[in-house]
Order: sequence, then C-alpha cells, then structure tokens
Amino acid sequence: MTRAYVGLGANLGDASATIEAACDALARLPGTRLMARSSLYVSAPIDATGPDFVNAVAALDTVLEAHTLMLELQAIERSHGRERPYRNAPRTLDLDLLLYGDACIAGSALTVPHPRMTQRAFVLLPLAEIAADLRLPDGRAIANLLPALADQRLTRIPPAPCP
Ligand code: ADP
Ligand code: MG
Repeated sequence: MTRAYVGLGANLGDASATIEAACDALARLPGTRLMARSSLYVSAPIDATGPDFVNAVAALDTVLEAHTLMLELQAIERSHGRERPYRNAPRTLDLDLLLYGDACIAGSALTVPHPRMTQRAFVLLPLAEIAADLRLPDGRAIANLLPALADQRLTRIPPAPCP
C-alpha cells in the first residue's frame, strides 16, 4: 500500500458537486481506499482562466502503481467531460497526483511530486488540513511552505449542515 495525495479542482459547471462526485469515484478505484478528504476551498484562477475554482485534496491508500493511478485519474477527468482545448483552459475537473509515497518520478507523462504544488495555496492548505505533519520527499515540511503563499486568495467552504 502506498499513501498518495490527489489534488482536485474544478471551475466549470457545478464545481462543488463535481468535486464531491470525483471523491466518490476515487473511493471506488480498484485496490484503493479513500483515507481522508479536505474541506472544499474556493480560489481565484492561477495560471488558468475562467471562474473561481473549487479545490480539495484527497488522501488515498492504494496498491496501484503511480502511472496506473494517473491513468485512473485521467479516466475520472474524462468521465466528467474534461477537454483540453488549449493550455490552462477552464476545466470541469482537474485531478493532479501530488504525492505518491516518497517517490520522485520525472517521466514524460508523470512528474511527482507535482511540480507546481509548492507554489499553490489551494493545494498546500487543504493538504495541511488532512496531513498537518506531511513532508515532501526532499524533507521540506508543507507547514513551512504555507506562509510564503499567504497572499493567495483562498476561502474554505464550511461543510453543509446535516439535514
Ligand atoms: P495542470 O494540472 O498543470 O493544470 P493539466 O491537467 O492539463 O495541467 O496536465 C497537463 C499534463 O500534466 C497531463 O497531460 C499529465 O499527463 C501531466 N502530468 C505530469 N505529472 C502530473 C501529475 N503529477 N499529476 C497530474 N498530471 C501530471
Ligand atoms: Mg492536471
């Protein structure tokens, strides 16, 4: 079993509902258990266009190999109508493999840790919510990376009250 962290983002359609559905899809992946998921957060687009994003991070324990997991993430993106008309286009669903255990992968199709995760509050803050003591494979604590991102607008959406 490997602990993997997945970043979820959406900024088209009912973005919150899409993130919830994607978490359900992650929980149903073969050989995989959804161990935790963060609150939803709203962020202004960075390196992208369109409406505000809804973001979250999920923790998985999985027997899937990293590339297989990435293919599964892309299949979930496609099942939510993800298209890539141009770079950084608005997206119904973006699933990024942030961390896969302590693995460092630098391939043509997959780079882990995700190369931009340390610059993005919408990744690190939800990650810190579910894994406060987490360190990157290079030993940096995510908690120590957050202060540098304090100027990025990010709003936590409180969980909906039980009916
Ligand atoms: P971004 O997530 O940076 O906004 P995309 O979702 O369009 O951009 O991804 C661009 C490409 O990045 C994809 O084709 C995917 O194969 C590749 N990629 C490489 N490493 C990763 C990773 N760790 N997680 C997600 N995608 C990755
Ligand atoms: Mg992506």
